[in-house]
Amino acid sequence: MAEVVTWTSGGAIVGRFEVTRRGFLTGGLALAGTAVLGATVGAGTAWAFDGPPITDCAGWGARPNSAVVPIWNQRPVKILVHHTATPNVTDYSQGAAFALARSIQNFHMDTRGWLDTGQHFTISRGGDVMEGRHRSLEVLRIGQRQVEGAHCTGQNIVSVGIENEGTYIDTDPTDALWTSLRTTCAYICSQYGIAPTELYGHRDFKNTACPGDRLYGMLPRLRREVAGLLGKNVEGGATQKASWPLLRPGDVGVDVQAAQYLLRDHGMTEVVPHGRYDAATADAVVAFEQATGAEDVGMLGGETWPVLARTVRSSERSEAGKAVETLAARRNAESVPDVVTRPDWQRLLGTGGSPADTSVDPVGPPR
Ligand SMILES: [Zn+2]
Repeated sequence: MAEVVTWTSGGAIVGRFEVTRRGFLTGGLALAGTAVLGATVGAGTAWAFDGPPITDCAGWGARPNSAVVPIWNQRPVKILVHHTATPNVTDYSQGAAFALARSIQNFHMDTRGWLDTGQHFTISRGGDVMEGRHRSLEVLRIGQRQVEGAHCTGQNIVSVGIENEGTYIDTDPTDALWTSLRTTCAYICSQYGIAPTELYGHRDFKNTACPGDRLYGMLPRLRREVAGLLGKNVEGGATQKASWPLLRPGDVGVDVQAAQYLLRDHGMTEVVPHGRYDAATADAVVAFEQATGAEDVGMLGGETWPVLARTVRSSERSEAGKAVETLAARRNAESVPDVVTRPDWQRLLGTGGSPADTSVDPVGPPR
């Protein structure tokens, strides 16, 4: 059940593969110069999807990695979307894209001290898709193993990390970037058999604004469009995954007040539950994050909420019980179960999944 596929570059055949039903590639690749590969793998096979052209590390002029890239004998099970938090440049050229890839690698190796670029793939605002960490592309083409990344602690051996150039707090990505992001995600999903609903933002797992409020808000659309590219049906609700609100200094409201009760519940009784994310609240959040080994940035996001929002009896006379009461009062039409667990907290906070699920839980051992 194999077919032969050839890969071309500049009109010359540079590779020849046998493609099995699962998209498993065998064969050799004779590359010279810039290695921009089209992803025309296995037309007519069960999982086939033509991904975008992806430029490998040699193609954008990467430095060698400083140590061996660890590769795990398992498939990733999800994709994490990031933004680079760099300026929203208007130079959409490939040269600018390659320069971005080099600057990220320099930053990760020279400042962070990592062995190579942290993420597996990078997409420029012009829509160029590039390999990030060495071997990520080669391993993706085969679709069996996982390059260990350095893009999200706890997720680096179970997820593929994609950095999208720009800052998407209050601006949408360019059409070119969006188009490349969805085709890249669809290709990764098809190579590894990842469900198109298993696309997440960095903030689902860490206390960070990444990938920005706007791009994060586009993830249900991304899941839907990736499913469409793969010819899969996903019910509308399935694209809305359970998550947590991201609270930041300056925020005001019932979610903040609930968080303040929960901080008090964990012994931080100096926090006043007035619903304003003031300096004292930020200090308490940082202290709580430090005590629990989380990123201590003073924001309250997907890493710290699950630790803070403990299982509680709704009738419990405790600060956590008051948090439940506060949230339930806002959503007065909804009943509160006797025992409030993680999906209930998410529903009360307005970030529940539909249907309710707990699949944002990290998979595998934290690293
Ligand atoms: Zn990120």
